[in-house]
Amino acid sequence: MPGYRDVTPVEPLKPGLLCSECNLLLKEPVQTGEGDRLCRSCYDDIKKNGVSQNGIKLGEEPCYPDRAVGKEITQLKVRCANYSSGCPWQGKLQEYEDHDCQHKPQLCPNEGCGEMISKPEFKTHWTKRCNYRNVNCKHCKEKMIAKDLEAHYVRCPEYPVKCERCSQSVKKSGLEDHVANHCQFVECSCGDIVKRKNWETHFREDGALFKHMSSLQHLLRSLHSSHRQLYSKLDEKQKLMEVETTATGELSRVETELKAFQSQYENRLTILQKKLGALDTVRGDIDSVRRDCSKLTDTSKTMGGRLEAQEDKLKQVQGQVVTSKGRPSSGASRYGDSFLRFQGWQLLKERLRS
Ligand SMILES: [Zn+2]
Ligand SMILES: [Zn+2]
Ligand SMILES: [Zn+2]
Ligand SMILES: [Zn+2]
Ligand SMILES: [Zn+2]
Ligand SMILES: [Zn+2]
Repeated sequence: MPGYRDVTPVEPLKPGLLCSECNLLLKEPVQTGEGDRLCRSCYDDIKKNGVSQNGIKLGEEPCYPDRAVGKEITQLKVRCANYSSGCPWQGKLQEYEDHDCQHKPQLCPNEGCGEMISKPEFKTHWTKRCNYRNVNCKHCKEKMIAKDLEAHYVRCPEYPVKCERCSQSVKKSGLEDHVANHCQFVECSCGDIVKRKNWETHFREDGALFKHMSSLQHLLRSLHSSHRQLYSKLDEKQKLMEVETTATGELSRVETELKAFQSQYENRLTILQKKLGALDTVRGDIDSVRRDCSKLTDTSKTMGGRLEAQEDKLKQVQGQVVTSKGRPSSGASRYGDSFLRFQGWQLLKERLRS
């Protein structure tokens, strides 16, 4: 808590009684090594946070309580913080804590208001001025809060309005009935405003017959014209209704077609899905045949390799046989054996080829 915020000194303050940090009347003043006077709490805050709002430097030396200034301040003559709300209290600052102020602002108890009201104003505000006080409409007795009253009057059925003919005040909801049945003045079809009690004599005045006949004729004409307008509007409406009926029929036809199309589409989809399933099976079969083929190709390649090797051997033997034919018969039986072996290979080769 910084210095004394709430009180107002009665006389102008001497210099040096305000806190160098919070600029309020010093509370528990201390003096720093640099010579600044601060409230005890302001000094503690600067020390704790290492920051001063007013650029105060604390220095290395410790502070000490300034008892003389502290005493001077507690003896100062001050006014109550609610002075502006009418509190007459004045006294020494040290007595202020014991002052039980009767002018302390209080929260208005009306729901939604939230205003703080000084004691002398409190009752008037609460019961007569607050926008959130409960009120009844004085005409229809409906309950509401005061701020809604103006808007309510616009639609209040009991709100008094003035009859334009007789200037009498009547309930808004009763105005029509008043004009038609009770007002002392009546508007005649001729345009004259006639006293209700003179209604019959009005028709007997001089020239009244002609005046009323012509006004009736005028009225008839205007009735005829509005009848025609009404009839043409009715005709338009009927045409519109016909168009609407046609459109509704067309719409339901399209809907039926759409449904048929949807069911057809769904059938086709089912068939297609079945076909797709069958296709998957065929694809599996093809894969297995492909695997068999590849195995067969491998086998055939191995066999071919073997055959080529055998053919090479055969060629070597053939070469030896051919060489042996041109030679003298001394080694014939040996070569004859070779020839027999060669015949055997020839047979095998032919079999493999077939
Ligand atoms: Zn201070
Ligand atoms: Zn007071
Ligand atoms: Zn209020
Ligand atoms: Zn009302
Ligand atoms: Zn009237
Ligand atoms: Zn008339």
